[in-house]
Amino acid sequence: MSELIVRGGTVVTAARSFRADVAIRDGRIAEVGEGIARQHPGAETLDARDLLVLPGCVDVHTHTRIPSDEEPDRFYADSVAAAFGGTTTFLAFNNPGTGISEQGSASLLAGLAEFRRRTEDESAIDFGLSAVISGRQADPISELSELIARGVPTAKAFMVYDFRLPDERLFAALQVMGRHGGMLQVHCENATIIDALVAGALDAGHTTCRHHAACRPTYAEAEATHRAIALARAADASVYVVHLSCADALAEVAAAKARGWPVFAETCPHYLTRTDAAYEADDEAEVIKSVISPPLRAESDRQALWLGLDRGGLDLVATDHVPDRLAVEKAVPAPPFPQISNGAPGIETLLSLTYSAGVSAGRLSLERLVDVLATTPARLFGMASKGSVEPGRDADLVLFDPNASRTIRQADLHHTSDFTPYEGVAVRGAVRTVLLRGGAVIRDGTFVGRRGAGRFLERSLSA
Ligand SMILES: [Zn+2]
Repeated sequence: MSELIVRGGTVVTAARSFRADVAIRDGRIAEVGEGIARQHPGAETLDARDLLVLPGCVDVHTHTRIPSDEEPDRFYADSVAAAFGGTTTFLAFNNPGTGISEQGSASLLAGLAEFRRRTEDESAIDFGLSAVISGRQADPISELSELIARGVPTAKAFMVYDFRLPDERLFAALQVMGRHGGMLQVHCENATIIDALVAGALDAGHTTCRHHAACRPTYAEAEATHRAIALARAADASVYVVHLSCADALAEVAAAKARGWPVFAETCPHYLTRTDAAYEADDEAEVIKSVISPPLRAESDRQALWLGLDRGGLDLVATDHVPDRLAVEKAVPAPPFPQISNGAPGIETLLSLTYSAGVSAGRLSLERLVDVLATTPARLFGMASKGSVEPGRDADLVLFDPNASRTIRQADLHHTSDFTPYEGVAVRGAVRTVLLRGGAVIRDGTFVGRRGAGRFLERSLSA
């Protein structure tokens, strides 16, 4: 295969930023250094002057829709949207609601087989599966070791919702994951507290969307975070806290990390950029866009999350993308809030929001941005070929213009939602070109990739 040289950009790794050319051979990064282009006068080049050369983002938390007869194109379309945003690898869940069949959701191994069959030759970027262990599955824990052996070493379990795992099964899942080299991702909220508050709200006739947030207090998240960490400790396992939203829960993670325990946590762009002021709008059609769990939090939580991200209490940022639509899942008049789908889109805005509100606003260094969006997610989730601009890794690169300014508009996005929570938000920086294993997926802001070019990644945490 031919050689391509990305010339004259500022390469950013988790450790440093420096002017360099990047030589790509056979889809991999062959060399990073000064003057490479001059030494290879015949090679094809891509001009990166005045641009940052970042590793493609690795989004480890999405709920994209699995292709079906009714919705054949949404998985592909959301993968294209991710590419437009600078993401070259994503992990999807196959929980109920993503279009997995009854049979596929009943068993982890059946769910993996079905996911692979239905997503084959669909994605424009590389992808993998994180399974969902549900309280409705007959015997998921007995399947875990085989699931890990088949390239899915991470799975998510819930402490809330009617498909939650009770503590004893959560503990058993952690134990098996720990023994076989897996990592459990846990949605930490206290179900008893939330169920009681929801019942009380409904009894009082408080059925509108804004009450969703009031029924999911930060202490319910912090308590469950503490409990998940304690269970992991007893099980001698690592644990990964998904979508951490508040200072109280962050304190639990930070305390565990300070003790040297293998506890990891992600937050999401919405918790870093939005607050619970969204629930005060008079218009129900506006408030329903923010029915997500955990809900948006106070300004003080938002500030704490940025500090945590900067200092390492939080390990990474992922989107928790749910491609809900105002015309379908979030239509008004809405049913009482407990019946509304939880989630909001974000697969296309990960890099632009985190760069703009983080780096551009002076809260995060460029190197830390690369760390939390690419290097650490690739490492924690077992994708050794991803996540860094260095020789030997896949040439998944983003040429990013740090000086551009733009405004996020639904009309300009490519995801399969019909709204963005960030409508009208001004951001600094723009994705110009995206390479997947050396091949262009986005060129000068236009999609030039191919459906099915993305490969399913069989992951291993021990690598
Ligand atoms: Zn999620």
